[in-house]
Amino acid sequence: MEGGKLIIFSAPSGSGKTTIVRHLLGKPELNLAFSVSATSRPRRVKEKHGEHYYFMSISEFKNHIRNDDFLEWEEVYRDNFYGTLKTEIERLWAEGKNVIFDIDVAGGLRIKRKFPEVTLAVFVKPPSVDELKIRLKKRSTESDDKINMRIAKASVELATAPQFDKIIKNYDLDTALQEAYELVTDFIKDQPE
Ligand code: 5GP
Repeated sequence: MEGGKLIIFSAPSGSGKTTIVRHLLGKPELNLAFSVSATSRPRRVKEKHGEHYYFMSISEFKNHIRNDDFLEWEEVYRDNFYGTLKTEIERLWAEGKNVIFDIDVAGGLRIKRKFPEVTLAVFVKPPSVDELKIRLKKRSTESDDKINMRIAKASVELATAPQFDKIIKNYDLDTALQEAYELVTDFIKDQPE
């Protein structure tokens, strides 16, 4: 596998990484394409198959694991599997794109280890775990149980921040968006034509 660059945004759920990734995708000069992950979690109302995720059953997901189809995969929450299909990256690289990922910290670090030269791994840090809880409740896409599960995981995820190439503090969204734009611009600048 070879091609453009890989830009990873990882963070605890609710940190704002999805907002940052969407913002960057709106900048044509960065030539980015979103890596659509496979997942076994249920589809949320506004989500589209093939755009937000490739939604599949747990058994379908496990078949892909057996066939070694994933670049990386994680059971991010119990019975909620998420993974990056090798074919997805091959497809986007064949289109000449730089690929941007919104994935969990373990998956992000795994991709960085596989492609150290062409990967920029960015950790998005929320102001505090309490603030994460407030944001997740406001978003109201998950039940209280699921929110608590995500919060419990956040402290473990926060401890991995030093392993990333860069850390963006998302205390003020506009500042975080600007910082993310500058980091990615710098990283892809020295890309061979
Ligand atoms: P959500 O259910 O909120 O869409 O995502 C839950 C978590 O799974 C988020 O941290 C998200 O970034 C992560 N995630 C999404 N796709 C992947 C993937 O392909 N691999 C891994 N390891 N994590 C992913």
